[in-house]
Amino acid sequence: MIDRTTVNRIYAAADIVDVVSDFVALKRKGVNYQACCPFHDEKTPSFVVSPSKGLFKCFGCGKGGNAVTFVMEHEKMSYVEALKYVAKKYGITVEERELTEEEKQHNDDRESMMVVNSWAYDYFKQQLSETDEGLSVGKSYLRQRGFTDATIARFGLGYCPSKGDQMTQAALAAGYKEQFLTATGLSIKRETGGWYDRFCGRVIFPIHSISGRVIAFGGRIMRKDERTAKYLNSPESPVYSKTHSLYGLYFAKSAISKLNYCILVEGYTDVIQMHQKGIENVVASSGTSLTTEQIRLIGRFTRNITVIYDGDSAGIKASLRGIDMILREGMNVRIVLLPAPEDPDSFARNHTAEEVREYIEQHEEDFISFKANLLMNEAAGDPIRKAELIKDIVQSIAEVPDKIQRSVFIKECARTMEIDEQVLLDEVARRRMLGGDKVAADFVTNYRRIQHTARHGSESGQDGQSSRLSHNVTPGSGVEEVEKELVACLLRYGHCNFEMRDYQARTASVLNVAETIFGSVEVEPATPVYRAIFEEYRSCFNELGVGVEVPIDRFISHADPQVCNVTVDILTADSNYELSAIWKKFDIFHESEESILSTRIPRVILLYQSKILEAMAKDLEGQLASEELSEEEYDGILQKIQEINVARTTLASRIKRLIV
Ligand code: ZN
Repeated sequence: MIDRTTVNRIYAAADIVDVVSDFVALKRKGVNYQACCPFHDEKTPSFVVSPSKGLFKCFGCGKGGNAVTFVMEHEKMSYVEALKYVAKKYGITVEERELTEEEKQHNDDRESMMVVNSWAYDYFKQQLSETDEGLSVGKSYLRQRGFTDATIARFGLGYCPSKGDQMTQAALAAGYKEQFLTATGLSIKRETGGWYDRFCGRVIFPIHSISGRVIAFGGRIMRKDERTAKYLNSPESPVYSKTHSLYGLYFAKSAISKLNYCILVEGYTDVIQMHQKGIENVVASSGTSLTTEQIRLIGRFTRNITVIYDGDSAGIKASLRGIDMILREGMNVRIVLLPAPEDPDSFARNHTAEEVREYIEQHEEDFISFKANLLMNEAAGDPIRKAELIKDIVQSIAEVPDKIQRSVFIKECARTMEIDEQVLLDEVARRRMLGGDKVAADFVTNYRRIQHTARHGSESGQDGQSSRLSHNVTPGSGVEEVEKELVACLLRYGHCNFEMRDYQARTASVLNVAETIFGSVEVEPATPVYRAIFEEYRSCFNELGVGVEVPIDRFISHADPQVCNVTVDILTADSNYELSAIWKKFDIFHESEESILSTRIPRVILLYQSKILEAMAKDLEGQLASEELSEEEYDGILQKIQEINVARTTLASRIKRLIV
């Protein structure tokens, strides 16, 4: 779909550190960069980006690849989409040809949902600014809230007409399938037949993924109607998870990492109003109470969160739980209470950016003094209430994972609440013991998942390809394992020599690895990704000649993203690679591989040959079952099977000698 020259230009332009940094805050570590892995939960970083090799690798869960496959994996994009994303980032124009019918079929459901969302996004925007209803109902409301045209355009605000199914009819007329209109929740089918638009008569707030794609919508009702909720969101779908997304993060992420803190508010308009004022490090957990996943999203860009609460919010106490969750993730939390009856939206509208910033700076509190101030009035003169308040604060302190930080907070609490420090220390210790079960449970879940990933490959469709390389392929290994070992030997040692021993003649000769493999292996691997690597290596080998190291870039920037992922997997699978220091931490098995090439290479070749013979025998046995065979043909096949079996026995004894 995208021609090879353009793909090459995209790979040449893509800076892996740059691309990954859009999603994760990387820290330089020697020649590489490190972060906590975005693909699995962890508190100590095992996710490594190597700018010189142009690859990433997580030594915790095993995921690895190049800049493009990172975007694929992280944003759940197709390969072509990820290429287009990277192309756009570097201003590379992508010429595309029309899709064939077959390719259109291939676009999976997720993709189709994204396409429908993107159509709806344009439709809602156009309705807002080009129709009478949109202008008089939608735009006038947004104007009244003080939003400028530039702001409306930046956040892509829109309007959905109030006539029951107008949007759905327009989508159907434009050729979008019912299936995806309902899957995205944009259209709802009436039981009596016909449709209605989920967002009819609502002002639309598009919800973007971290990379800026529209994954869902929020809609605010315009007519006064007690029966429906003021705000309505897209339902959960394969492209949208409420608990895993934060409103405004796409627009806020660079300001968050630059300023190294994130402001958390409640609603869409709070975020937009603050941005319009020029305070851009703001996000909202709209549509849900704060979740651990959302906190971790923020955690990729900063460890510091400032939560702003409305002055008259009745829900403050209920939302205090969010503070404990932030503390539990080991992040720093500060809290600002706005003067009643302001909310961040009104406050930002009525003050200059300078005043807003100043207010935040002067009124930021840590959670201890915030809780103390909030609850102290209620507790005044009531020792029982005061004891409850202290327990509440102690519980929060017990959530902080860092010991030093905990002890600082205990001191602070003892001072504020005028209570003996030792009592607090004991109580915090007790709470942490009680909470211990949860920590253990988390650990077990995490451990199981890593084990599962290691065994079954990543979830991205590298089905069954173990993320660990087994040097110890045996006659019992599956075909895929043997094929993987074969291409691993090519990729890593193709240019090397090894000693081929002849046990019977008691002689040894020095041979080149790639030459020997290509000379002894006539049938290419059956698994597509291994076949692709095999073929690519062979054409490089033919081009460059014996003993020349093939540039690994040919595989890391290969047109097939699976080739890249498997290559990274193979390169990082043991101690010979430059990322080895980190790898060593996670894998206790090392062997000096160069020295065992003399058994490893013959072994994989013999095993590969025996796998091919096995498959041939199986195929012939299948043919025997056919009833249309003449006696002559039957005997011919039987004869072949016998020959193959003889060859297999010979191979088996050679393998045995090699392994024993
Ligand atoms: Zn990971």
